[in-house]
Amino acid sequence: MARVKILVLNAGSSSLKFQLIETDGDAIAGSTDRRLARGQIDRIGGAAIVTTTAGDAPPSKTTAIIRDHTAAVEQVLAWLVSEASGLALSRIGEIDAVGHRVVHGGERFGHSTRIDEEVRKGIEDLIELAPLHNPNNLRGIAAARAVLGPAVPQVAVFDTAFHQTIPESAFLYALPYQLYRRHGVRRYGFHGTSHRYVAYRYRQLTGRSREDTRIITLHLGNGASACAISAGRSVDTSMGFTPLEGLVMGTRSGDLDPAIVEFLASKEGLTLGEIDSMLNKQSGLLGLSGLTGDMRDLLSEEAEHGDRRARLAIDVFCYRIRKYIGAYLAAMNGADAVVFTGGIGENSPTIRARICNGMEWLGLSVDPLRNAGLPGNEGQIHAEDGRVAVWVIPTDEELLIARDTWRVVTGAEIPS
Ligand code: ADP
Repeated sequence: MARVKILVLNAGSSSLKFQLIETDGDAIAGSTDRRLARGQIDRIGGAAIVTTTAGDAPPSKTTAIIRDHTAAVEQVLAWLVSEASGLALSRIGEIDAVGHRVVHGGERFGHSTRIDEEVRKGIEDLIELAPLHNPNNLRGIAAARAVLGPAVPQVAVFDTAFHQTIPESAFLYALPYQLYRRHGVRRYGFHGTSHRYVAYRYRQLTGRSREDTRIITLHLGNGASACAISAGRSVDTSMGFTPLEGLVMGTRSGDLDPAIVEFLASKEGLTLGEIDSMLNKQSGLLGLSGLTGDMRDLLSEEAEHGDRRARLAIDVFCYRIRKYIGAYLAAMNGADAVVFTGGIGENSPTIRARICNGMEWLGLSVDPLRNAGLPGNEGQIHAEDGRVAVWVIPTDEELLIARDTWRVVTGAEIPS
């Protein structure tokens, strides 16, 4: 298969992350894929910070006035074809396709999809479900089209798509059923590209077939979610109608009794908007510790100063994850493995050990030496006699977006 260059874009409200990946879209030969360049532009709308990394070189930072997302894409492309990138791209025409991370695909998009006017409109229609994200993703799509022209294919890869296989019994809330029919109130789940990538990588590392795997993946970063994956399909996940539900996160509360909302509105005199913002931005690790939502900083506060609330925040975080592992073991009638990924899952042996602590009865325990000394942050860390394996697998959403993009463009089958 021909090798191609895919530009992967992830557009936020005032940011644009990008990677240029060379791939042939083939998951099997995928290990030959190459990340040629990456970077991000922050503070779009004024004096923006442009960070670029060519290959394995150290990142370089500059500032530039960048008024909108179109100017940001122009900036990215100007850098890619410049000598500074070291890519020797003669012109932007060497970019074969663009893959966009799109947050919400609703029930309409269960797979990555080539973007035409109808799909663009579909993403727009879903703004009411993802008011903070889909509009930015659309800005990225419009910008790439404006700069590269209509001849360069663009593909949307949705955060929700992987979870479209979750059965009704798991995705429905026990609300009046017509609210699901009328407004689409149900569990959608997010981080789908990450859960799907690590599930694929787990099969690749273990040589197991898709049909023969039952795993629980834990994506633990600033946002955090768990996913139950059976035979390659998501059968349940912890994030719900929005990314607020489920695990304790950096600044999000995760699960809570919905009656708390009305109670706080009256006790604290808060509006619904203020409560929503508190649950998303001032809760989680930050809210519990009163210090920070950053796990690395919390761990050092706990270790260096014995901070009680830092410890408490970490304990609540780990306990919630343990409960979800228990729930998903029940949902799938057991599991072969638990897989850690995301900034915390990939980098913190302490948190991995604290989560798995106390589950020896089911044969899930971490070997301290393997856990502490994982080369390249990828591999198995369970005790020799463990019945449930424990793995650490770094996520790579951009790689999956690049592969999906080329599969969609060539009409190849998209594996789940
Ligand atoms: P995002 O969800 O924004 O992509 P990441 O996946 O990069 O975030 O995860 C960020 C989180 O990972 C932060 O809480 C950070 O403190 C944590 N983290 C990164 N490295 C370590 C480490 N060595 N030990 C503990 N936590 C870490």
